[in-house]
Amino acid sequence: MLMNRTTPFMVPVDDANPAIIKNEALCSECGHCFAVCEEEIGVAAKYLLNQREAYPCIGCGQCSAVCPEKAITGRPHYKIVKELIKDPEKIVVFSTSPSVRVGFADGFGKEPGTFAQDEMVGALRALGADYVFDVTFSADLTIMEEGSELLSRI
Ligand code: SF4
Ligand code: SF4
Repeated sequence: MLMNRTTPFMVPVDDANPAIIKNEALCSECGHCFAVCEEEIGVAAKYLLNQREAYPCIGCGQCSAVCPEKAITGRPHYKIVKELIKDPEKIVVFSTSPSVRVGFADGFGKEPGTFAQDEMVGALRALGADYVFDVTFSADLTIMEEGSELLSRI
C-alpha cells in the first residue's frame, strides 16, 4: 500500500542506524525530513515506489540538515575512535573526503572556502592518528561513475 502523501511523514530513524539519531521529544512532525529524503535524495521515493516495508536509508544525513528542531542529528562516533586510538594494538587510519578540509576551516570560523589541510592533518595526528589520507582521487572517480550512470539513464 502506498503511503498517503498528504500526511506529513517523517523518516523512520532506527536505533541501529549508523549515520543518524533522532530525539523524538524534539520532533514537531513537520515532515521536512521525509520531503527532502523523497524529493531531493530520492530514497524515500524509491521506498514508496517499491512498497517496501524496510526503509533503505543510505545515511546521507540530509534529513538532519533540514530538520528545524534539530531532532535528527548525525550519530557521533568519537567515543569509538577514542577507544581505538588508545589501543596500542590498533593502527588508526583517517581517510577524509575533499570537502572536509574546507568544512574543518569553516567550523573554526575561517573565511568560507579556506583550505585547511595542514591544520586538519596536524590536528588528527595530535589526536593520535597513525596515518591520515585523503580520497581526492577516488572522489574524482566517483563523480565520473555518477556522470556515466546519469548519461546512461537519460
Ligand atoms: S524534520 Fe525534524 S521536526 Fe520535522 S518531522 Fe522530521 S524529525 Fe520531526
Ligand atoms: S539519512 Fe538520507 S537516506 Fe537516510 S533518511 Fe535521512 S535523507 Fe533519507
